[in-house]
Amino acid sequence: MKTTPAPLMVRSGNGANLELEDGRLILDCISSWWVTIHGHGNEVIAKAIYEQAKTLEQVIFAGFTHAPAENLAKTLLNHLPASLKHIFFSDNGSTAVEVALKIALQYWSNQGIKSKKRFIGLDQGHHGDTVGAMSIGGTSPFWQSYSPFLFEIDSIPYPATWKGDKAILEKEDEALSALEKLLTKSEEYAGIVIEPLVQGAAGMRMARPQFLQALEQLAKKNDLLLIYDEVMTGFGRTGDWFACQKSKTNPDILCLSKGLTGGFLPLALTITSEKIYQAFYDDDLHKALFHSHSYNGNPIACAAANASLKLLEENPKQFMNMESVHEKLMDEWISKTPSLTRARICGTIAAFDLESKNTNGYFDANSSVLRQKFIERGFLIRPLGNTIYLLPPYCITESQLSAVYQAIHEVSMAL
Ligand SMILES: *Cc1c(COP(=O)(O)O)cnc(C)c1O
Repeated sequence: MKTTPAPLMVRSGNGANLELEDGRLILDCISSWWVTIHGHGNEVIAKAIYEQAKTLEQVIFAGFTHAPAENLAKTLLNHLPASLKHIFFSDNGSTAVEVALKIALQYWSNQGIKSKKRFIGLDQGHHGDTVGAMSIGGTSPFWQSYSPFLFEIDSIPYPATWKGDKAILEKEDEALSALEKLLTKSEEYAGIVIEPLVQGAAGMRMARPQFLQALEQLAKKNDLLLIYDEVMTGFGRTGDWFACQKSKTNPDILCLSKGLTGGFLPLALTITSEKIYQAFYDDDLHKALFHSHSYNGNPIACAAANASLKLLEENPKQFMNMESVHEKLMDEWISKTPSLTRARICGTIAAFDLESKNTNGYFDANSSVLRQKFIERGFLIRPLGNTIYLLPPYCITESQLSAVYQAIHEVSMAL
């Protein structure tokens, strides 16, 4: 795009910092698009990758398996709701969602139920850039040019909330009523796909655990598979291991990627309950799930994921405690910034909206101006439209975070 400034040349990364070729330091306040959970250049993960590369760099993941994948499955299942039992490996978040959709459709058709082939999504949901994932996020403004190729879904409102929101119960009721209305034809629906607790690309829109609990009840009552896209919310992001735990809900299918390898390598997982697995486990080849990619279950990526999980296990306080730091700094800086509204926090994620006269969602002209102003001050912050958000690596220090809040305050006041 012609109006985009030239990309900045990055030389190295260390902790929460990126170092540019010209020597400038940029504090990565968004974990390089939500993946770098332990910070850049983490030595433990780097070493695990090196050791694994020397031992076994890659092997066909059909008819063969290997210790890094087996260990990852074992360790990870310990951190997930007990109902989740079987793991499918792939290599990016969009694909994890794509696989979930295929599994959901086939789960019903394998049982001879042909009518359940529509999906329900949440308004403004974002699930990735492949055709199925785009379709589920069909209400996003990004996809207009591709709309002839996307399949139709039905969507319900996402009851986004913030501090001091007085209308949240009405918004939740509205969303749940919309779902109930669709479910009067529950024989048509295969599943519902949701970003639990936080919708990322839509602007860090946050929902309450109570909403997910009500949604889960409706889904279970109406034979609707509950599919959680935790590609962004997984691995400590919401202040608990996964949004499932934080909301005390149990999806039938769970999608993970992004923070899985600590942000070192692409890897993704689609995880299902026993009930779903059993609908595929058969002598008949037609009941099998047909899906494979060249790099499914790559051993080096799995080794990175194992090292990352170990770091999380050793120090869960790092992601569990960040919420209170956000609270404190928001009180200090955001409460005295009148143009910043709808302050909201979920674990390690903090967000607020910049009030401007001509807000236009994601395409808000402010966002590129703001991005530039933050870079000039040494911060990587990429507003989503008029939403400014922080989603830092867990190793960020309180004083680094404090400097970020101060910069947001100053930039907003100077606009
Ligand atoms: C980023 C993201 C995806 C897509 O993941 P990719 O690895 O970029 O394909 C899907 N769902 C959510 C919630 C995401 O944040």
